[in-house]
Amino acid sequence: MKFAPGSSACKFNDRSCRTIAGRARRTYSRDMTVAPVPTAPLRPVPRHLLAIEAMPAAEITRFLNLAQRYVDQNRSPDKKRDLLHGKTLVNLFFENSTRTRTSFELAGKRLGADVINMAVAVSSIKKGETLIDTAMTLNAMHLDVLVVRHPESGAVKLLADKVNCVVINAGDGHHEHPTQALLDGLTIRLRRGHLDGLKVAICGDILHSRVARSNIHLLNAMGAHVRVVAPPTLLPADIARLGAEVHHRMESGLADVDIVMMLRLQTERMSGQYVPSIREYFHFFGLTREKLKAARPDALIMHPGPMNRGVEIDSEVADDIKRSVILDQVELGVAVRMACLDLLTRDTNSTTG
Ligand code: ASP
Repeated sequence: MKFAPGSSACKFNDRSCRTIAGRARRTYSRDMTVAPVPTAPLRPVPRHLLAIEAMPAAEITRFLNLAQRYVDQNRSPDKKRDLLHGKTLVNLFFENSTRTRTSFELAGKRLGADVINMAVAVSSIKKGETLIDTAMTLNAMHLDVLVVRHPESGAVKLLADKVNCVVINAGDGHHEHPTQALLDGLTIRLRRGHLDGLKVAICGDILHSRVARSNIHLLNAMGAHVRVVAPPTLLPADIARLGAEVHHRMESGLADVDIVMMLRLQTERMSGQYVPSIREYFHFFGLTREKLKAARPDALIMHPGPMNRGVEIDSEVADDIKRSVILDQVELGVAVRMACLDLLTRDTNSTTG
């Protein structure tokens, strides 16, 4: 079952219901006089990070500015703070992950939170518990932050509507991966000093990529020019609406760009054949030194990982220490996630329901 954002599955329990439930409810007796019913005290309304779409540039800049400060902290010998002391963060991953899960764990621990990684393979979810049951069970344990990755688009929003803690989307299906776009934005900003006016080519399996969607939204909001380069079979039907210039050839797509962002062929989300063969795909769409000649001489190479060398990217360019910022992306991922935990828990603490 797909939980598309905005679908009825997502809407039936929106935030307003929860807010109303937190206030003193009133019931009407037979003579229509209003009798107040005591309820639980007001709880802060949690602030979530579910998507980059519709996030204003000022908000994105706020995350990036704070993350930049955490970059310095992470490079110093004294990496730990007690900002989140007493708070509990749960990493709930329904899909495999190396970078994202580890960096959320490091980010939480560096800010002093207690971090628990829920192994979905051995949890009750495998025994048939539904997503909502899991959410309600975790909610009863008074978590502060829930970081969720799920294979279905919209599932993280559905869960966020049910719990009283901050929820961060660590990737939902092919919908969004907001912290990846923030760390990509920070990587570019640290190397180039700004995002506005830059030409960015996102290449490869756009159709199945949440990274592409979040990045298109972020880069457009920040004033960059976005191109997508892919065969027609790997482009979503609504690509023009997302705000990207479409290219089907690497030579034209990479012409004069400042940034080349490569994506993995996401076979786990494919049903059917999208490319004739891996060999042919690499021939036409794999990033090689030859194809890179079309880009600006100082163009940066990015990849969210995991990389498939010899499929979407040649090792020679992936490991080029002058051009490739792939390891910077990994490093900055921790700082960005610290900034997200800091800001979201801070905003939640200061908000009343
Ligand atoms: N790690 C990224 C994601 O979770 C990209 C990928 O898997 O290819 O979407």
